[in-house]
Order: sequence, then C-alpha cells, then structure tokens
Amino acid sequence: MLVVQKFGGTSVGSVERIREVARRCIATQKAGNDVVVIVSAMSGETNRLLGLAKQVNDDPPPEYERELDVIAATGEQVTVGLVSLAIQKAGGQAQSFLGSQVRIVTDSAFTRARIQSIDGQKIHDALKQGKIAVVAGFQGTDADGNITTLGRGGSDTSGVAIAAALKADVCEIYTDVDGVYTSDPNVVPSARKIDRISYEEMLELASLGAKVLQIRSVEFGMKYGVKIHVRSSFNNNEGTWVVPEEKQMESVLVSGVAADKNEAKVTLIGVPDKPGTAAKIFQPLSGASIVVDMIIQNISEAGRTDLTFTVPRADLKRTVELIRRALPDMAEQGIKTDDNIAKVSVVGVGMRSHAGVALRTFEILAEEGINILMISTSEIKISVVVEAKYAELAVRVLHDGFGLGKAPA
Ligand code: ASP
Ligand code: MG
Repeated sequence: MLVVQKFGGTSVGSVERIREVARRCIATQKAGNDVVVIVSAMSGETNRLLGLAKQVNDDPPPEYERELDVIAATGEQVTVGLVSLAIQKAGGQAQSFLGSQVRIVTDSAFTRARIQSIDGQKIHDALKQGKIAVVAGFQGTDADGNITTLGRGGSDTSGVAIAAALKADVCEIYTDVDGVYTSDPNVVPSARKIDRISYEEMLELASLGAKVLQIRSVEFGMKYGVKIHVRSSFNNNEGTWVVPEEKQMESVLVSGVAADKNEAKVTLIGVPDKPGTAAKIFQPLSGASIVVDMIIQNISEAGRTDLTFTVPRADLKRTVELIRRALPDMAEQGIKTDDNIAKVSVVGVGMRSHAGVALRTFEILAEEGINILMISTSEIKISVVVEAKYAELAVRVLHDGFGLGKAPA
C-alpha cells in the first residue's frame, strides 16, 4: 500500500515527539508499505513566526502578504529536516522536500493559496529508492516561484492533496485527539468519537470550526475519493474514517453539533433594490478571496432592501473597505457590523430523509431562552447565529437534545 501520514504541530512538537513520528513511519514502512510523510511546523511555531511579523509590521497591505508567507513557511522547513534526520537515526532512510521541490503549484492568493497541481515524480523516485519521503505541509509556490501558504491548518490539505496526486490508499491525519467527535469535548463532556463520517458531513463540521481538519482537505478528499483516517499520534487506536456516504449513515439523524466563533455579521441597510446590486457587493469580496457564508436579504420597501451576511472575522475590516468602495453612495451608518456572534450548527445526512430537525433545533434553543439572530439550512445542516456568549450553551443543549451524548454510566 501507499500510505500518506500527516503529522500536526503537537505530533512534532518536541524532539521526543519527532522521534516517535520517525518510529511510526518506519514501522509502517516495515509492514510493507510505501510511506510519504507530511508535517506541520512544531506546535506554536507558526504563531511565533507570524507574531514576529506582527511586531515588525502589524497591518501590512495586501501586497505585502507575500512576505508573511515567506516567514510562515519556514516552520515546516525545519520539521521536514528534523523528521528526516530522526528517521535516519532510527535506522530508516528518508529525504525531505519543500513544497517547491515537489512542485506544489498554487495560485497567488498569499496566506490562503489554493493548490493547482502537484508533481509526484520526485516523491515516487525517493520511494523507489526505499526512502520515506518527508514533505513540508502548508506551503507551495505560485507560477512565478513565490512562496505561498495554504491558510492556517493547511498541512491537512497538503496531506490529502498529495495523497490524491499519488493515488495513495489512505491518508492518515495524526493529531492530538482520537478522531472526530460529535462535538468539541472541551465544551461538551459527553461528546463521543465518531467511527465513520461522510465527506459531506465532515465538510460541514470542518467549516463550523471543528478544527480537526482544514476544510479544503475534506474538499480534496471528496473530489478525489481519498480515504482519510483521522487518528491520534499518542496511541494506536482506530480513529475516525472520513469516507463516501454509506447507507447506514442515514439512520443517524444528527451526527454532530459545532460552533464557529470566527465569523462576523455585516448588515447593509437600504441598499438599492435593483438588478446587479448583490453582484456589485459580492464581486469585490470574491475577488479578495473573502468567503461569504450566510446571506439573507429582506423584503424590500420603497426600492431599498437590507442585506445581512457573514464573513470570517479576520476579513471584516477588509470587507467593510471593499463595500465602501463598491457602494460609494452608501451612508456611513448604513453599514453595521457585529463580531460578537457565533454560528451553531447541527449536521447529519439523516436530515435528508427525516423531517422536523429544524423545528426541534428551534425548540431546544427556545427552552433555554437563546435568541436566534440568523437561520440558514441546507440538505444536511441547520445553522443559527446567536450571541457569542450563548455559543457553548447552545452546543451543549443541542448535543444532548438530539441524543448524541454517551449513555450515562
Ligand atoms: N503550521 C501551519 C499552521 O499552524 C499549518 C498546519 O499546522 O497545518 O497553521
Ligand atoms: Mg491542524
């Protein structure tokens, strides 16, 4: 088998952890597999590097985001070298590769680049020589050779994309938890580990801030059918398999409940209600790679309408600037923002075939007196925006209300 193993920051967080990674890779190879390892920076390192950048220049203009990537990408350069040395020391053979050395070509959206192509040749060559290939996660280069990074948590995407490019049999994502849980165990003590989950559900949970997997890694997995196994690097337990939807998954009404506190709400009051306005507003946001999530337009009155949507909190300032530019006639007070919100969602493919999940969600929140600010639904998800201070409570009552908790001992 060809096995891709991706190790996150805590899994390479110390010299001892790196030795442990080396042992695991060698054991996997000795079991008869070709092994490709993708690593993150040591835990805390990316924050440290970006913190340094911030001390020097706390608000670089977009043209200077290129420099942030030059800085941040060094974290992974260190770990690929260390892991290769550790593998050699433990009796194996390894070769490290930076993103540019295996031609991980991305677009030029610095700090959030998207992978366009990967040339697996050098990796295959290393494998043929009996080596373990150790590839830097999180980074690539654009067509002009600029160093790019894939956004926070991006080495998950490196792992799955490389697994797809190499047609690997499995992509194992090693982390510091035992798998994907029905909710964040720090918030919901009764949360359970999920054994198998569909790409679609995982996509929703990942987008909701269940931080185990970067969302794009799940998109890649779904698109190319990569079997993803999320598991702990601290034990040998079976983790969570992220796989194509299976028949029996439908019998579960709700698979998970998650909260996302990384969004902010923007309301535009009294925008002209005529064709082209929405496009005019969202075009520049899309051009700036700002991911707009929930969008609600109200019924209009006297040719004007209100529009509310959410964007990542980190993009709020830029969003407002872009909208001011797109709608120069808009009054200052016509743009309202609120970053004190949380999006709470219940997710499950079972919703497709069962009615009443939305109603039950609203009832459960009502019983706790939690006010709902926005609602959106999809085939397999119901999301509500609430005041940030209610996020944890909402998650807990929904998790228990839908019977996801462990049976009491
Ligand atoms: N080191 C990067 C980060 O901290 C990428 C990753 O760990 O996945 O976001
Ligand atoms: Mg991660």
